[in-house]
Amino acid sequence: MKITLIPGDGIGPEITESARNIVDALDIGIEWEVVAAGEAVFNKQGTLIPDDVYESIEKNKIVLKGPIMTPIGKGFRSVNVALRKKYDLYANIRPVKSLGTIPSLTKDLDLILFRENTEDLYAGVEKQISDDEAHSIKIITRSASERIVREAFEYAKANDRQSVTVVTKANIMKLTDGLFLEVARGVAEEYPSIEFKEILVDNMAMQLVINPKQFDVIVTENLYGDILSDLMAGLVGGLGLVPGANIGEDISIFEAVHGSAPDIAGKGLANPTAILLGVCQMLDHIEQKDASNRLRNALDTVLSDSNNFTKDLGGEMTTKGFTKAVIKAL
Ligand code: NAD
Repeated sequence: MKITLIPGDGIGPEITESARNIVDALDIGIEWEVVAAGEAVFNKQGTLIPDDVYESIEKNKIVLKGPIMTPIGKGFRSVNVALRKKYDLYANIRPVKSLGTIPSLTKDLDLILFRENTEDLYAGVEKQISDDEAHSIKIITRSASERIVREAFEYAKANDRQSVTVVTKANIMKLTDGLFLEVARGVAEEYPSIEFKEILVDNMAMQLVINPKQFDVIVTENLYGDILSDLMAGLVGGLGLVPGANIGEDISIFEAVHGSAPDIAGKGLANPTAILLGVCQMLDHIEQKDASNRLRNALDTVLSDSNNFTKDLGGEMTTKGFTKAVIKAL
């Protein structure tokens, strides 16, 4: 099977090389079609996503993607957001699970966040009113809300999860968040065996810090999901440990939650665990569950020995050394 590989910017080439070597070691017949998108291509060709990237994605349907940088406040729009919108990758699924003996705020955590991935304030509908005023339009639709909430409940049902918590700020944004909550309540009625909880996003941030184990499956809008999943990553040891699947009807893109980490790029310091867990999500998606279990077990073994910890986890292991240790554990 052929999979599109986009190395991306910053630490992207380092962590995707690690992923590639490890998948090759799994020996399950995966071939890579490598195409470039992002800052480096923009500087050379004046385009962020050349045509061969779209062609490859549309042919292979499954993509493993390194992080791609987006300039802050000005400059080009996010490649990540563009791909999610173009291919209607409506479900962003971010599992946050404790691994090995990594030093962390919480032990034995196993949460999964379903983030609506196509609308909300990330729809990019912004307007400059004057030099001193700008507006951003928050878009919430019944259909997009329903499909992400249903995705969360279907996951909970298939994986024997106890509860689904919907996160909004429906007390203030009564029309937009109110609609998301109303839809969630309706979908929840169809799943009486799964406990349904509602919480406001500000309280959610505090509850996640003081008692995260009260939650199980979490479903929310685009912006809240982006922020809360970084907070959740912090509970289990940091951004180097959390993957994200972007699932559409036809095409799916698997990646790490973190960005291109320009501060450590090219130094061999990046922790490839997040993208490797993204590979596990990808392998589950293409019905290679044996291979994903093997890789998850190997990661757990490697991360149970502090000699294998990369700098973000308080150790000295390099990206290449970590990759070798995972291949050995496999
Ligand atoms: P970041 O996630 O790149 O980095 C935040 C901090 O975490 C940095 O200190 C970094 O060194 C550390 N870190 C992140 N991943 C790590 C890893 N695998 N191993 C070790 N340390 C790691 O966030 P940022 O600095 O705010 O963003 C940098 C760029 O990435 C921005 O241009 C942003 O737009 C982009 N970004 C892209 C994606 C994506 O492609 N999906 C996601 C988020 C941010």
